[in-house]
Amino acid sequence: MKGINSKLIHGRPTQDPHRSLKPAVYETAAYDFATAEEVEAAFTGKTDAYMYSRIANPTVRELENRLQTLAGAEACICVSSGMAAISTALLTVCDTGDNIITSKYLFSNSYVLFTKTLPSLGINVKFVDLENADELNAAIDERTRVLFLENITNPILKVYDIEPISKVAAQRQVLLMVDNSMLSPYLFRSAHWGVDIEVTSTTKFISGGATSIGGAVFTFASDKWSKVPKLKQAVETFGKEAFSKKLSKELFRNIGVCMSPHTAYLQLLGLETLTLRVDRICENARQVAEHMSQHPAVKEVLYPALEGSPYRELSEKYFGGRPGSLVGLVLEDKKTCYAFMNALQMIRRGTNFCDNKSMIIHPASTMYADLSDEVRDEMGIDKGLLRLGVGLEDVNDIIGDIEQALIQIGKA
Ligand SMILES: *Cc1c(COP(=O)(O)O)cnc(C)c1O
Repeated sequence: MKGINSKLIHGRPTQDPHRSLKPAVYETAAYDFATAEEVEAAFTGKTDAYMYSRIANPTVRELENRLQTLAGAEACICVSSGMAAISTALLTVCDTGDNIITSKYLFSNSYVLFTKTLPSLGINVKFVDLENADELNAAIDERTRVLFLENITNPILKVYDIEPISKVAAQRQVLLMVDNSMLSPYLFRSAHWGVDIEVTSTTKFISGGATSIGGAVFTFASDKWSKVPKLKQAVETFGKEAFSKKLSKELFRNIGVCMSPHTAYLQLLGLETLTLRVDRICENARQVAEHMSQHPAVKEVLYPALEGSPYRELSEKYFGGRPGSLVGLVLEDKKTCYAFMNALQMIRRGTNFCDNKSMIIHPASTMYADLSDEVRDEMGIDKGLLRLGVGLEDVNDIIGDIEQALIQIGKA
C-alpha cells in the first residue's frame, strides 16, 4: 500500500482474533498477566504489555499508529483534547524560569493558557512579531525553549511564513512547535518545514464530523532535544525518542490526559474518510469565500487563498492553497452580526469547525468575551467578525442560506 487513503483505511494487518474489519474497542481499565514476573516486566519497561488504560490502550494505540503514518512522524501520542496536547507538550520541555515565544494571534484558550496558567507556574510567555527576524532573535534568550505558532491563526486566518521562523529556530536551537489543528497533517506537512513538535486538535478534521474531543502530539526528527535541560536525562536514556518518551512516561500519565478508547474508535472511523471530507470542505469553503467576496453586504471576507488576500502566496506554498474549513465574514457591527446569525436557517450557531454541519459564531462576544477591548484589538478580533466553519452540505445550500439571511435583515 502506497497511497495515504489505503493506509488510513487499512492500518496495519489486523491482529483481531475474530478478523473484525473495524477496530476493537478495548473498554477496560486494566489487563491480566499470566505470572507475577510478567507484571514486573511490564511495569519496569522490559516488555510493552498493556498495564492500565490511563497509560496505554490498544484502541488508542491503533489511532496513534495511523495518525503517525498520516503525519510521517517519529512518534504520535493521543491525548484527551487539543488543549491537552498543547499544555502537556509545553510542560514536557519548560521549567519554572523558562520562556516561550509566540505572537498574539492565537486561539482563545491558548492565549489564556499563555497569559494566565503558564505564568502562574513561572513559565513566561513573550509575545512578538514572529515574522520580524530582528525582533524574534532579540527575544530569544538562554531560557527560551519553544517558538509556538498556529500555522493559520484561529479565528482571523493569518498565515505564517514558517520557513524563515524555522531557520531562526534552527540557528538558535530552540524548538519549533506548530498548532496544526486548522489543517490537520493531511493539508500541512510539519516534517517538511523543520517543525520539531506538532500539536493538533483531533476534534476538528480528524474526528470524523465532530463526534468527539481529542488531541495528538507528533514529534519529528530533531537535533534539539539535547539542548533542552529538562530533557537531559531522557536524552541519555532514550536518545532521539527523548521528547516522546518523556511526555508519555511522565506528564501524560501523571497529569492523566489519556484519550478514551471510545473516542479513539470514533476517530479511527473518522480517519478512514479524512481526505474525502477535507477535500470537500476545502472546496465548499473556497466557493463560499469567493461568492461572499463579491457581495456588497460583506465588508471583508477573510480567507487566505482568496485572490487579493495578503496570504494567498503563503497559502499556496504551505498547503496548496487549501486553508481548511474557516471563512471569516466581516459585517458592520455586532448588532448586524447577531441579526444575520439569527436569520440563518440551515447553518448552525455554535463553536466548532471541520464539522459535517456548517456552523457560525461571533468570536468577540463568545470565545474572546473575557478579554478587554484593548487585548481583542491587539489580537485583531473585530466586533463585526463572524467565524463560519464551512461544512459538508451542498454548497448551494450554504450560499443560499447566507443569501436569504442577508435579504431577511435588509442587506441584500
Ligand atoms: C480547537 C482548537 C484548539 C483546541 O482543541 P480542543 O480539542 O478543543 O481542546 C487548539 N488550537 C486551535 C487552533 C484550535 O482550533
